[in-house]
Amino acid sequence: MNTTVAAADMERAIRARKTELGDRLVILTHHYQRPEIVALGDLRGDSYELSKLAAQTAAEWIMFCGVHFMAQAAAVLARPEQRVVLPNHDAGCPMADMAAAPDVNRALDDIARLQPGRRVVPLAYMNTLAEVKAVVGERGGAICTSSNARQAFDWAYQRGDVVLFVPDEYLGRNTARQQGLNEEEIALYDPQRGALGGCSERELASARLVLWGGYCHVHTWFRPEQVDEARRLWPGCQVHVHPECRTEVVARADGAGSTGYLVRMVEQAGPGSTVIVGTEFNLVRRLALEHPDRRVLPLDRSLCPNMARTTTRHLLNALSRLPGLAPIAVDEAQQRGARLALERMLEIGG
Ligand code: SF4
Repeated sequence: MNTTVAAADMERAIRARKTELGDRLVILTHHYQRPEIVALGDLRGDSYELSKLAAQTAAEWIMFCGVHFMAQAAAVLARPEQRVVLPNHDAGCPMADMAAAPDVNRALDDIARLQPGRRVVPLAYMNTLAEVKAVVGERGGAICTSSNARQAFDWAYQRGDVVLFVPDEYLGRNTARQQGLNEEEIALYDPQRGALGGCSERELASARLVLWGGYCHVHTWFRPEQVDEARRLWPGCQVHVHPECRTEVVARADGAGSTGYLVRMVEQAGPGSTVIVGTEFNLVRRLALEHPDRRVLPLDRSLCPNMARTTTRHLLNALSRLPGLAPIAVDEAQQRGARLALERMLEIGG
């Protein structure tokens, strides 16, 4: 079969099904989704924007075109009558899988034991499993995203003395720099490195910030030399990167921020300008197409294979199976803690 015709047929079938379901359905798409998926969605954004939108929508079915942890968070925030579905259940996030609830609990206990009398506040990035969000909520912490990490750090230090930040080392380190913390105040905890996450007792006893040893391979792909090379090739260009990038990359860029920030920087750059963007390639390619009067280039071509797992075929298949399709389920025991942590994130704002 001609694949172009097949794609056009699928798109038509998706649009017809959307019309049939009307207000009962909303399709949320993350910025990193394939262009054809974004074009079929109703609302798009970063994980923070989408979690707020998911909490506000009146739709009965929330079709979440993103990865598993995002759909889980939407399911936690959804009203009891709403159902959240993920078109492809194989779309996970390797970074979210780098932190498991028992390990996070152990890290919090280790810090508390070595810093008696001091209050430890856990902060988890949105990119965590619901079981980790539940631990964070139950132990007085909050969730944050790259949009509001700084505000979340302020919130945490107003309530405690030590912060455990899970799971992205680089977002944590880049935020810590903005907060004026120095390297001696930071410990790196990685359960793969053995007891105390590979820290010495002294390190863990004196840390004001304990970072988890997790990372996003899509963003750690970028190197500082690529920023130098972009400036050499495009004199006068602006370079904006995501804060999941290495600190050396962020240090050489003009600015770092969430996908929402990166979109704004391209919009504000003005006609004739050159903007180099260090984040997932699908977003950069779309920004380039949407702004033909300026040059928008990727720092390098780095794709998230998990975001790409959602195809129009998956979307059509999921839509065709509604209302019989199994929604994303979050363990009842985890719901309460995860909801607490997510509601604190929405209160923190950003
Ligand atoms: S871009 Fe990175 S953090 Fe986002 S889903 Fe892909 S692997 Fe996970």
